[in-house]
This record gives sequence, structure tokens and C-alpha cells, in this order.
Amino acid sequence: MTVEQNEYVATLPMLLTELEVLRAERVSPSYVRIELGGAALAQLGPDGPVYDQRIKLIFPNAAGVLPSFADADESIWTTWMQIPEEERGSMRTYTIRDRVGEGAETRLVIDIVVHEGEDGHAPDGPGNRWALQAAAGQRLVVLAPRKGHEFGGIEWSPGTATRLLLVGDETAVPAIRGVLRDLPADATGAAYLEVPVDADVQQITAPAGVSVTWLPRNGGARGAELHPAVLDHLTGTAPTEAIVVSDDEIDPDLWETPVHSSSGEEVAVATAVPTGDAPYAGLYAWIAGESKVVTGLRRKLVNDLGLDRGQVAFMGYWREGVSMRS
Ligand SMILES: Cc1cc2nc3c(=O)[nH]c(=O)nc-3n(C[C@H](O)[C@H](O)[C@H](O)COP(=O)(O)OP(=O)(O)OC[C@H]3O[C@@H](n4cnc5c(N)ncnc54)[C@H](O)[C@@H]3O)c2cc1C
Repeated sequence: MTVEQNEYVATLPMLLTELEVLRAERVSPSYVRIELGGAALAQLGPDGPVYDQRIKLIFPNAAGVLPSFADADESIWTTWMQIPEEERGSMRTYTIRDRVGEGAETRLVIDIVVHEGEDGHAPDGPGNRWALQAAAGQRLVVLAPRKGHEFGGIEWSPGTATRLLLVGDETAVPAIRGVLRDLPADATGAAYLEVPVDADVQQITAPAGVSVTWLPRNGGARGAELHPAVLDHLTGTAPTEAIVVSDDEIDPDLWETPVHSSSGEEVAVATAVPTGDAPYAGLYAWIAGESKVVTGLRRKLVNDLGLDRGQVAFMGYWREGVSMRS
């Protein structure tokens, strides 16, 4: 079945289109899997491996209406911000879990973490609320890469690294899964994935040389098992004391990668994974999740263990208690 196309501006260098929900399934306590279809997906990029490709989803406004981008030019953000706030709906960032099928039958699959009523609170956040009621036949606007055009949004960049480390919480599982799926068969390293509960552990494919460790919190604090597991992996010793991060230590836009610094640190023009006698030579680390947890690891890895900023990507995918700006 081909879903009717509704692409606003077919000439834009990115895909900006309404897509239809073909399937919405609560696959585990914390994940709703959404399968989106639409003829425009024949043009879905990226041209190469998907890795941790991020995209934007725009959820309908309170009246259930999606914004129109009929006159959008390349500065889609400006077009979107010009729509009155109560009308424009909400934009959030997600990861392509899977791109399946061919041509107009291509499907875009996304895993949305749901955090309903956590700690006794009512479900919060437009992405969360939408996912909790999602059903086939509903529509979303998607901003995603278009074949043949540079879009950005893939942070995975291990360069010449010989040893890989991937660390993330439930929001980063789709990205880590994508990287592991797309790695060369001879890659070596380790992945640590923290999820809310045992039942959120998924089957994922990884090269034989990459170990995959799931760390369900099962009611424990965020990062409580993740931090020691990662430090044990790197140093051979798990710290017995928790990493304490104060609120004012958190960069609200935490995004420290070899090529970008949200805190304004100097970024080298050409970055490379250190070799020779440098500490952790040959290692490339990709770390994403709740900002406080990621900040704690950043402090340990960069300040205490001396990892070079050219060999690490630390990304705040979300922040506890803070709604993402849109
Ligand atoms: C590059 C990138 C890729 C991402 N990929 C994915 C993905 O594939 N799947 C996915 O689910 N998320 C992903 N995220 C994270 C997602 O964008 C955020 O979780 C976002 O805040 C969700 O929006 P919301 O509308 O549900 O909540 P918001 O309106 O942003 O926040 C409302 C409240 O919900 C809380 N909240 C937000 N997210 C969570 C959570 N996961 N658990 C508990 N509380 C939460 C906030 O702290 C806040 O108190 C990604 C983020 C980035 C930057």
C-alpha cells in the first residue's frame, strides 16, 4: 500500500513532509514503536549508513492540527517560529531506528521513550503524550535527510579509532543500536545501555568484537550502575562512590563532540583519535542520555582520566525536569 504523499516543498534539500502512522505499538514498558509511511520516504536519506541519524518530529497542537509548511524555504526554523505558538505544535528530536523497504514503500521506524506518570507525576511532554495515544492513521510532520543532500545529524565519527565505547540511556538505545548495526564486522569495543526496567532490554545485533551490556535501573537512580560500569571498563576499577553533579554544573545544551562545543571550548579544525602513549590511545567514546548523567561521565573521563576531546562525543539528549525547547 502506498500512503498518499504530502510533501510541502519537493525542492528543499531536506525532507519536510507529513507522514502517516502505519503502526504504533507499545513494544515494552518504556518504548512505543512508530512505523511511518508516505510516498515522500522514497527520498529519505542519508545516502550511506544511518548510524545515529537524528531527525525532527513535529507533533500536532492541542487541537490535533499539524502546522503547514506550504511556503517554507530552507530556513524551516524561521517558518516554524512564525506560526503562532498555540498553532504550531511541538518539535522534538528523535533517531531513525530503522529505514525499511524501498521506494515509495519505504518505512521510517522510531522508538519513542514513554515516561508516563514517573514518580507519581502525570504524563508530561508533547512527544511523550502523543506516543502514549498514538494509533494507525494519525499523522506527524517529519524533518529528515533527503537523498543526495547533506543534512548533518550523524555524530558517530570514530575516525581511526581501534577501540569503541558506546554509552547511553533509554533515549540513546535507538542510536546505539543503529551504530552497532552499521559498524564493520571487525569492529571492537563495548556498549553500555541503561534502560528503565528488565523488560525494556531488546535483541540487538553487534559485531562479535563489541560486547553489549544492558543495565536496567529497575527503580534505581539514573546512572547509578552505568557510571561504575563504564569506569570499570576503562580503568579496571569500579568507583564505590557515586558521581555527584550539581545543577549549576549542567550545560543546558550539553553537546561536546570533537567538532562542536556547546560550552564554547576551542574545537580543533582537524580532530583525530590520539595514538602512541596518550592515555586511552585508539579509543573513541560516544556518550548520550540524560544531561546530568552525561555530565558526570564527562567530568570523569576528560578531567580525571585525561581523555582528549577529539576522541569523545558527550551529548545531552534530554534533561530531567526540563522540557526541550522547540
Ligand atoms: C540527537 C537526539 C536523539 C534522540 N533520540 C531519541 C529517540 O530515538 N527516542 C526517544 O525517546 N528520545 C530521543 N531523544 C530524546 C528526546 O528528544 C527527549 O526525551 C525529549 O525531551 C522528549 O520530548 P517530550 O515532549 O516527551 O518531553 P519534553 O517536553 O522535552 O519534557 C517534558 C518533561 O519530560 C521529561 N522527559 C523528557 N524525556 C524524558 C525521558 N526519556 N524520560 C523521563 N522523562 C523525560 C523532561 O525532563 C521534562 O520534565 C533524542 C534526543 C536527541 C537530542
